[in-house]
Amino acid sequence: MTDIKSMTLSELSDHIESLGEPAYRAKQLYGWIHQKCVASVDDMTNIPKSLREKVDITNLNLVDVQESSDGTRKYLFGLSDRSLIESVLMRYKYGNSVCISSQVGCRMGCKFCASTLDGLERNLTAAEMLDQIYSISRDIGERISHVVVMGTGEPMDNYDNLIRFLHIITDQDGYGLSRRNITVSTCGIAEKIKEFADADTGVTLAISLHAPTDEIRRSMMPIANKYSISDVINAAKYYFEHTGRRVTFEYALAKGVNDSSECAAKLADLAKLVSGHVNLIPVNPVTERGYAPTADEGVRAFKNKLEKQGINVTIRRELGQDIDGACGQLRKRHME
Ligand code: SAH
Repeated sequence: MTDIKSMTLSELSDHIESLGEPAYRAKQLYGWIHQKCVASVDDMTNIPKSLREKVDITNLNLVDVQESSDGTRKYLFGLSDRSLIESVLMRYKYGNSVCISSQVGCRMGCKFCASTLDGLERNLTAAEMLDQIYSISRDIGERISHVVVMGTGEPMDNYDNLIRFLHIITDQDGYGLSRRNITVSTCGIAEKIKEFADADTGVTLAISLHAPTDEIRRSMMPIANKYSISDVINAAKYYFEHTGRRVTFEYALAKGVNDSSECAAKLADLAKLVSGHVNLIPVNPVTERGYAPTADEGVRAFKNKLEKQGINVTIRRELGQDIDGACGQLRKRHME
């Protein structure tokens, strides 16, 4: 049976028609799946059993949840092939934000990241991305207002499913999430960033820059061997010019690696080129990785230096420090 949760409304309409069912059923099914977020076709009370038997929807299995004292909840979900993925719920004053995974594992190989230690297993389907949001929404009985595609995986390496996911999650006939409240984070695959700008999804783009020189960046991120910082900045500029949306640069501060005042000055010059915003985070130490976080004082000094150059800077609040905080750690522990 085909998984109808990954279908757009128009694809679902075609599919329903091909099953010999009346067209209005497509909209009803779509509403059950994407607005009411039901876990099973059996909950679709106004859909006849004969039709329910002909369709199937993806449903993630909740394997584990950890709750932090600050309200952050980290979810471990099992997929139909028994792969495991992580998602995180963060509660802010402005709403509930969910960080979703886009792949099972990752092949980008960033030296500070736990998600990539075992390489890429497979891409997630659009339904598997959507269902992280729907399952968490059901679990807490509240609406999710913000989504960040910043969990395990490189979204631009699963591009078609990413676009499909964004179409469905923002569809007014579906969950209807505001484009403005979605951020997609990439390690900087330059040509995909341009394609993404042309796709005009209206979402915020975050680029994991992490270093202001090619030399330092290459020591942290293998992708930097393929795309230079100037390739990445040009792509960011293209995104900004074509969408009018400001790009965010993520910058994980690692002691003695990328946190000097010289680095701050160079980073400011780069950010200025695209009116970019900088999001700082002290690197989250991962047992298998050698990086240590810059101390608070160093983070503040780095921030001040950027601000003096007129750059808009935020320090990412480190939520969930008392649970398996860093990306991929909860999954890794379960796999072991
Ligand atoms: N592949 C995408 C999205 C997933 S990673 C990307 O690279 O942007 C989400 C963010 O977490 C990225 O900025 C990534 O560099 C960062 N990250 C990964 N491991 C980290 C760690 N140990 N400490 C701090 N940030 C980390």
